[in-house]
Amino acid sequence: MEHSLRAQLEKAIRAIPNYPKEGIIFRDITTLLGDASAFRRSVDELVHPYSGSSIDFVAGIEARGFILGGAMAHQLSCGFVPIRKKGKLPYDSISIEYDLEYGKDELEIHKDAIKPGSRVLLVDDLIATGGTAEASILLLRELEADIIGSCFVIDLPELGGRKKIREMGVAVRTLVEFDGH
Ligand code: AMP
Repeated sequence: MEHSLRAQLEKAIRAIPNYPKEGIIFRDITTLLGDASAFRRSVDELVHPYSGSSIDFVAGIEARGFILGGAMAHQLSCGFVPIRKKGKLPYDSISIEYDLEYGKDELEIHKDAIKPGSRVLLVDDLIATGGTAEASILLLRELEADIIGSCFVIDLPELGGRKKIREMGVAVRTLVEFDGH
């Protein structure tokens, strides 16, 4: 079962070489999202370990984490909290700067999005260096969330993100791995 989902995802995710720049293989999940079976099975598999436990919120990282996270929150009967790029949230927010390959970016969360002690599951489509997930975890920790785990459809293990997040004390769950960047 596990193996066949992996094989299905390897086929359902489109690889676009040299996008957005030379040397990067962009892992495009729009083809997965458009495939009813692959989308449903991915969401089922991501929530599977948590279906018996009480989760208060799924926190999704803009933008592809919103699509997966909304479906996961529905399945887990919990709330959804968006972690957004700078300047998009309408109410009082806290923000964190993080490093990109070239330059910096900022992520934000509403300061009242979750109450201290809430059980939160973090989700994004892909983990590469782990910088985006790390920044998100620091935001959630500032709000005193109890981070139950983090999950991603795709892992790029060569970039070390999974290890980085594990070293922060947060469990990482991924469904398929690809070599390279
Ligand atoms: P990182 O912070 O290095 O772990 O990068 C993860 C974020 O960048 C996620 O939000 C991904 O959607 C995006 N990302 C990084 N590398 C890729 C890639 N090769 N294909 C698609 N998205 C990527």
